[in-house]
Amino acid sequence: MSDGFGLAPALAERKAKNRYRERRAVHSPQGPRIEIDGKQVLNFCSNDYLGLANHASLKQAVHAAVDCYGVGSGASHLVCGHSHEHHQLEQDLAEFTGRERALLFSTGYMANLGVLQALLERGDAVFEDKLNHASLIDGALLSRAKLVRYRHCDLLGLERQLAASEARRKLIVTDGVFSMDGDSAPLAELSALAQKYKALFMVDDAHGIGCLGSSGAGLAQAFKLDQTQLPILVGTLGKAFGSFGAFVAGGAELIETLIQAARSYIYTTAMPPAVAAATREALRLVREEHWRRERLQSLVFLFRSLCAREGLPLTESLSAIQPVIVGDDERALELSEFLFSEGFLVSAIRPPTVPEGTARLRITFSAAHSEEQVKALVAALVLGKQNLDAFVDGT
Ligand SMILES: *Cc1c(COP(=O)(O)O)cnc(C)c1O
Repeated sequence: MSDGFGLAPALAERKAKNRYRERRAVHSPQGPRIEIDGKQVLNFCSNDYLGLANHASLKQAVHAAVDCYGVGSGASHLVCGHSHEHHQLEQDLAEFTGRERALLFSTGYMANLGVLQALLERGDAVFEDKLNHASLIDGALLSRAKLVRYRHCDLLGLERQLAASEARRKLIVTDGVFSMDGDSAPLAELSALAQKYKALFMVDDAHGIGCLGSSGAGLAQAFKLDQTQLPILVGTLGKAFGSFGAFVAGGAELIETLIQAARSYIYTTAMPPAVAAATREALRLVREEHWRRERLQSLVFLFRSLCAREGLPLTESLSAIQPVIVGDDERALELSEFLFSEGFLVSAIRPPTVPEGTARLRITFSAAHSEEQVKALVAALVLGKQNLDAFVDGT
């Protein structure tokens, strides 16, 4: 097969460029300590920001729901797969986000594809931050609308592009908290630009939902943006919620349009009802246990102050995502491997996931980490820096 398609040489070239991606098998639940490839390590690369992925009450919710509904959902939501658990969760999520309605998708990737494909068509234009998640780019391509990318958080550049656009309909879409950088989009200004240029506004808050806002409803809550100011809100449930899936929240007409037209909603099997049940329990914990968000914040603060003291490069990020920019792909890999040998799991993120020359360690924190674990990580980073001299200016 590789003869005609040139798969083998392409794979070899990938390897030579240090762009080859490999998987490691995990033999334990998610948590600050995991067993991976037979080795116990401290985990600093999971998106389980609130420490819920292995929480006893989520597991209990799954058990109870499996007893009641079995495992598989059996069909898509529009056929006979839409269970009472899914329906309740949608109502809970609408209330949680202060939106009229919410719609569950099987993954965040599919939610983004579905929204962009259902709302846009040829002749429309979608304006995207250059650092937006891949699923938002793919959704734009699938929609056949014109894709206009603006420099990261560059409001002036975006306004120029909006003013110059002759598209029939316009949509501005951004990550809330950027997945590889951890910084936040200027949502208030973006919302104002959308209103000024009669554009629709969409935020993918995969990394903000659960972690930010007074009750965990994410960046939209932190910025106090209601459904008029931010009509399309996407959240994912596999990160801070420790579960699986995603949702779109907004007005009734938006949600009805997605049910009628979003192909990644219509043509796929509904997630198992037990997953929805676990998410409902996660939502209860997200709303009630403020200490998880506070603890996460204090660990991030501890990490940043220790790094500053040790002269390690930091970015602007104040979120649970704390990248250490290395620059060179090979050095980022070496540093990640060094950390692994010291018992720390930290992933090296390389192009094309991030721009050329900005390979990095993507360090993430969880409310389940201890202060001692954070201190140990910083000590290992210092050692790695000495051993590999691997850092360039990280700003
Ligand atoms: C993780 C992520 C997604 C995809 O969500 P899944 O549920 O994992 O498919 C979408 N957008 C952003 C910004 C993400 O970080």
